[in-house]
Order: sequence, then C-alpha cells, then structure tokens
Amino acid sequence: MKVLVVNCGSSSLKYQLIDSETEQALAVGLCERIGIDGKLNHTPAGGEKVVMDDPLPNHEVAIKNVLAALTDANHGVIKSLDEIGAVGHRVVHGGEKFATSVVITDEVMKAIEECNDLAPLHNPANLIGINACKNIMPGVPMVAVFDTAFHQTMPKEAYLYGLPFEYYDKYKIRRYGFHGTSHSFVSKRAIDVAGLDPKNSKVIVCHLGNGASISAVKNGESVDTSMGLTPLEGLIMGTRSGDIDPAIIEFIAHKEGKSIDDIMTILNKKSGVHGMSGVSSDFRDVRAAADSGNEHAKEAMGVFAYRVAKYIGSYVAAMNGVDAIAFTAGLGENDGKMRASICAYLGYLGVELDPEENAKRGFENIITTKDSKVKVLAIPTNEELAIARETVALV
Ligand code: AMP
Repeated sequence: MKVLVVNCGSSSLKYQLIDSETEQALAVGLCERIGIDGKLNHTPAGGEKVVMDDPLPNHEVAIKNVLAALTDANHGVIKSLDEIGAVGHRVVHGGEKFATSVVITDEVMKAIEECNDLAPLHNPANLIGINACKNIMPGVPMVAVFDTAFHQTMPKEAYLYGLPFEYYDKYKIRRYGFHGTSHSFVSKRAIDVAGLDPKNSKVIVCHLGNGASISAVKNGESVDTSMGLTPLEGLIMGTRSGDIDPAIIEFIAHKEGKSIDDIMTILNKKSGVHGMSGVSSDFRDVRAAADSGNEHAKEAMGVFAYRVAKYIGSYVAAMNGVDAIAFTAGLGENDGKMRASICAYLGYLGVELDPEENAKRGFENIITTKDSKVKVLAIPTNEELAIARETVALV
C-alpha cells in the first residue's frame, strides 16, 4: 500500500509518500509560507528537487498541489490518486486521551480539538491538515499518530509535577513528553541491533536534534522522558532553554519590564545553544565556531553535553540500570564529537567508546567496544516510516 504521511504546521506542510511494502519513500516534499504566498519543494526518489511557487492561500490548496505534484507526468511518482491507500497524520498532542495511534473519525477529531489548549500552536494546524485531506480525499482512511502517545505508559512518579494537585485535576497539567514516534522507533531498533530481550531491556534514547529530548524505555515502554507539559522542558535545544529555575521568569520580567509572553518567546526561540553562543541555532555552525575558538560556542556545546549526561544518570537511577544508550536525530546521528563528550561522563557505567566506530555515520551502528558494559548506538530515526507503519497496521 502507498501511504501519504502528512506533518502539518501552521504555515507549512511536510509530506512523504511511502511504499509500505518496500518501506521506501517514493517522494518527499514541503509546502512553506501557506497563507502568505506559497512555495512547494517536491523531490521524487532518485530525482531532482522541483520548486513551485504557485500561491498557497490555505492548507487545502497546499494538499491539492501536493497531490498534483505526486501525479504529475514529469516529476510525479504515481499515475492516479487511487494508488494512495491511506494517509497518516502526525498530531502533536493527544493529552491523556490517546495512548496509541487511531483511525480518524469525527469523535477522534473532537478529542484532538479538546487537546488544543495543551498545544495551541500545533494541534489546530494538525486539524487543519486533516480536514484539508478529508475534503480532497473523501473515503481514504486516515490515521492520527501522536507525539505524546508513546509516553502514556509513564508512571505517576514520572509524570506528576510538584504543584497543587488541583492543577492536574482541573487542567491536566502533567508531563506528557514528545518525539514519541522517534523514541518508540529508535528504542525498538536499539533493542534489535544490540541483541536485547525486548521484554527484559533498559534503553535510554537521546533524540538530539533542533528539538531535543531523552527517554527511559524499560521493557519496551516509556517510563520517563525529559519534555514535559510542553516541549520546552528538559535538555538544552537549538533555541529552547530546557530546564531552568522557574523564578528566572519573574526575575527577568522585573529587570527588563517584559511580559510573560515576551519571556516565553525568549525561552522558546532565543535561548538554547543559539542564545548561549550568539552564533546560531544550527549545531553545525555552533560546532564550527567552537572548533575555531569561540568561547561562548564552546560553553554552549559543553553545557549541552553535561545536561544530556545528567539526564542519562537520572534515567539509569529510574530504571535501576541500563543496557543500551541510543543517539538519534540530526546532532545525535551525525556529531561523533558530541557523542564522545557525553560518553566521557559515563565511565562509571563501564561505557567504552570505540573512536573508529563513533566516527562513522549514516547507518545503525554500535559505537562502543566489545568490552563496554553498556552498548552505545547511533540509530537514524525515521518518524515518517514509523507513521506509515502505524497507519498500515490500523487500516
Ligand atoms: P533535526 O531536528 O533532527 O532535523 O536536527 C537538526 C539539527 O541537527 C540541526 O541543528 C543541525 O545542525 C544538526 N546536525 C545535522 N547534521 C549535523 C552534523 N553533521 N553535525 C552536527 N550537527 C548536525
């Protein structure tokens, strides 16, 4: 079956058409600036990228143009839309309502809408994408795959905050965690590649990309993760601060005469390695600046690595041990220097990095020596394939 995987943002729409038999992407693409002017980048597998700048006034037009690109005589990859057997939608927040992926019905749409409060920037955009697809492809089954679902197995110890209980009761303020599709996919691959027993395994997944989060996965289930009610908590990220003393918000507000909204923008968009280094939110730029002697860039990379190592330590405690640690996402998959800086803190676990293996990239690899007590792996994540698999399983 051919599955269209859709990841809708407020002004963007990423897509992949995946053949579920070969598990290969037949085409990938991105609509940008929806509602502003519009740009569609479409790349058929093995072909050249095609850029189209037809206006994209809304998501429905964007989807129409994506489907036209997929069936185009020159750069298309299917003859007719009938070849698309199902659509898998990435949905950011499923709250406590969704612990698994689901086939989208009117009831499911309503339940996603009820989670809008928890992800006001993302869920409404996801719903717009679902509605657009429903209008243009009526009758094609659609599945919602939630970023939060994999972490719904966390115990209360991990998900409750030290706040008055009424806030959980009234508003469901708790840790939800994100990147669930990636943590699920990568933990399964790590168990397989490391040769562990899925029913008796302790794995820590470090998803280190522009957004970064870490999870403790015991016997295949998430038991803790670093992102919280929102993706702001936890590790230092490209532009997000991760954990800070919450009193800093009040302190900056008073000193600089800023509103809470201003400060949330600073914490979400102007902090992380970007704010710390003053260089960029792209780890490659920060790495290059650090390598050429920029002190703030060096500090940013050092603080980033230390924070990851601290979380690993806390998850070893949470699971009373660890069998494997997996690195994934843009930075985790590619930056051997960062993996080495983090693993330098893990000698107490008996981690012994193999420098030659750690220098490789682009495939699933064990990067520790044969004698290492804990296996460390680099595992490329593939959230789109994971969404396609879930979609096929449900339809
Ligand atoms: P993601 O969010 O998974 O797409 O990851 C994006 C981040 O990964 C960006 O900040 C990139 O700078 C970083 N990244 C990608 N390739 C590399 C690389 N070769 N070395 C270091 N960082 C990288």
